[in-house]
Amino acid sequence: MTTKILLDEQDIPTHWYNVVADMPNPPAPPLGPDGRPVGPEALAAIFPPGLIEQEVSTERWIPIPEPVREAWRLWRPSPLYRAYRLEQALGTPAKIFYKYEGVSPAGSHKPNTAVAQAYYNHEAGIRRLTTETGAGQWGSSLALAGRMFDLEVRVYMVRISYEQKPYRRSMMKVWGAEVFPSPTEMTEAGRKVLAEHPDTTGSLGIAISEAVEEAAGRTDTSYALGSVLNHVLLHQTVIGLEAKKQLEQVGEYPDMVFAPCGGGSNFGGIAFPFFADKAAGREVELVAVEPQSCPTLTRGVYAYDYGDTVGLTPLLKMYTLGHDFVPPGIHAGGLRYHGDSPLVCQLYHDGLIQARAVAQLATFEAGVTFARTEGIVPAPESNHAIRAVIDEALACKERGEPKTLLFNLSGHGHFDMSAYDKYFAGELQDYAYPEEAVREALAHLPKVEAA
Ligand SMILES: *Cc1c(COP(=O)(O)O)cnc(C)c1O
Repeated sequence: MTTKILLDEQDIPTHWYNVVADMPNPPAPPLGPDGRPVGPEALAAIFPPGLIEQEVSTERWIPIPEPVREAWRLWRPSPLYRAYRLEQALGTPAKIFYKYEGVSPAGSHKPNTAVAQAYYNHEAGIRRLTTETGAGQWGSSLALAGRMFDLEVRVYMVRISYEQKPYRRSMMKVWGAEVFPSPTEMTEAGRKVLAEHPDTTGSLGIAISEAVEEAAGRTDTSYALGSVLNHVLLHQTVIGLEAKKQLEQVGEYPDMVFAPCGGGSNFGGIAFPFFADKAAGREVELVAVEPQSCPTLTRGVYAYDYGDTVGLTPLLKMYTLGHDFVPPGIHAGGLRYHGDSPLVCQLYHDGLIQARAVAQLATFEAGVTFARTEGIVPAPESNHAIRAVIDEALACKERGEPKTLLFNLSGHGHFDMSAYDKYFAGELQDYAYPEEAVREALAHLPKVEAA
């Protein structure tokens, strides 16, 4: 009985898997304000050539640079666990496996792409990176990666999180990044917002605007995004590629693969390498799990929309709740995004992957069950996948069906203990699907002429 299935450092994959090569319908291109596809050149002001190439690549396998694999050795390959204790507690005939990404220094899957992005920027002679962060998972991952590849990192952190979540801010500073509460007086976008709303708590949309403005205005500075874009999901496929090898070692293959889904990067990361088999005719179900309060895939519309609140980014074809939809303040901060990765959305639209929405209280209940059986305290985002897996395992019990279930445990919850405290104190609530708010936001979708 092996609990922890481990790979050696030399088993770290040498190539990323690009799902575009196997998609029956390629993802729709990003559009500029004029409704025409945005060419790679338009991205050159804020991204280095290596990443732009990956953003538009249709090659199935893309080599992972040696310095990236070298940096990953600090925590990769990540362990794959068999959840014997959870299975036993549930009394399920299902086999449950989880890939644990909380072993990275920042505590989640996000450093996988942060390191790759820092590498390509360093290669291009870039000296500084700007980014935005909400709760701080992405900001801290980029701070770590910038330190590893000799880049200065400036993080625009949503003001309310800056004040309420001081420890991720501290972590970014330990790794040497500059962190400012957004909106700031340092950018035009920030000054404009502050002039109109001096007491604003900030938002991800505003912070993105500030980070993009600074990167676009300086030749030595690039912008970095932690999810949604094709190159980010590409980098994360290291998760699924390792998981496949690990399952192979114990002679298993999953019937179903689950992951929490915010912008889609850890879902794409674990699921896409299995999609390659599905495209070749193998049966495997891929399930993205999202919050009921921000039900992008399950209740959104498939349309072109802005990536940010202000409307500065190109238009992306995705399931969206509307770029000015402000989701309820649930504790899974990483899942509060109005849109989703265009790759994930196209596959969902084509019926090749599934989505489920779960309620907040049920996710914490699942997370506590997991912590009390498997020991690891999961991030609130990860609890979404755990909820769906437990539900599936219980359904297996009912039907007497010994399915093999795999999920991505995207991060640990050590910086989210106040959310667990609130759960125990009975202060958390379920938010009804905000149909009114979504309808209102969808009325503001940008008008796109068929080009
Ligand atoms: C950011 C984050 C997520 C959600 O982001 P995706 O891009 O959808 O993966 C999920 N889990 C954790 C722990 C995160 O930090």
